[in-house]
Amino acid sequence: MFDFKGKVVLITGASYGLGEQFAYAFAEAGADLILTARSEELLAQVAQRCESHGGKALVIAGDVSVESDVERVIGGGLEAFGRIDVLINNAGIADARGVAAEQFDAEMFNRILAVDLVGAFYFARGCGKHMLERGAGSIVNICSILASGGNENNVIGYTAAKGGLLNMTYQLGVEWADRGVRVNSVSPGFIVTEMTRPMLEAMGIDRWIASRTPMRRVGEAQEVTNAVMFLASDLASYITGVDLLVDGGTNASNGTFQIPPIHHEWNTQTPMVPTSYTPVQPRPDWYQALEKGVPGVHYPLPEADGPAEQD
Ligand code: NAP
Repeated sequence: MFDFKGKVVLITGASYGLGEQFAYAFAEAGADLILTARSEELLAQVAQRCESHGGKALVIAGDVSVESDVERVIGGGLEAFGRIDVLINNAGIADARGVAAEQFDAEMFNRILAVDLVGAFYFARGCGKHMLERGAGSIVNICSILASGGNENNVIGYTAAKGGLLNMTYQLGVEWADRGVRVNSVSPGFIVTEMTRPMLEAMGIDRWIASRTPMRRVGEAQEVTNAVMFLASDLASYITGVDLLVDGGTNASNGTFQIPPIHHEWNTQTPMVPTSYTPVQPRPDWYQALEKGVPGVHYPLPEADGPAEQD
């Protein structure tokens, strides 16, 4: 679907997870790659698979939170290829401990900010400078649904970092718009990767996440990849400073029901919005009381015996 022949794409966090999948997709679309993360051996394996598509894949290991590492990665990439057309700012860490905000330790808070926000800034600044000199380039930051809202998972460091990254997307998108460099972000909902596997699969939270997602399922890495490639490509040539949510409708919802919606059962003659959705929670007692609908609307009010009593 996409053609990245002759383009050089730098992907951070490419050793596993979403970044690994992005690498294969860009390689398949003809791109040359600069792959970075801390795990050099894993990166080498990813690069080998990428090169089977015919392009080149350069591995330069480094930590995104270390400024000199970032400069070394960008410098090495430019030395090898002479240009960087696309930056995918994907490296990130979360925190699965579920520590409440009022107990959250500064050490972890700062660490998440250093990787998810400051690391992305280092890469955007370094690649952006080069792209501005050439007057062309595209940056895609990987944010999250938690960039534009909170949830009950107790991830204050992560939401703060991703919210910052989203606003940085807007700022850079505006600041570089008239100099040929586009900056956008993709905000995935929950996708099973190394980051989320313990929570989603081992603890079974995937069913709960699915229950509160309008599409009633978690997402696939390929669905995020499609959005990333679109924004990175020239098909998005008039799009900058935009956050593309890939979240099954989560962000559009004002809180999605976890029990079957009552209006599905009100009208048995012309059923509304049929669904195969199975509730995660058992129906509470009050639900039984409401099953007939709203008194006076869905069934007649009982006959009044007389005027209402005055206090
Ligand atoms: P993942 O499976 O844990 O992969 C994270 C990647 O980032 C790995 O390649 C890791 O490689 C790299 N990384 C971590 N710390 C790094 C550091 N200090 N320096 C350089 N690289 C580092 O996570 P993922 O699910 O693929 O997440 C990718 C991005 O999507 C993240 O920004 C995440 O916040 C975002 N996201 C994910 C989800 C989801 O449900 N999975 C949802 C919304 C947003 P090394 O360990 O080798 O360094």
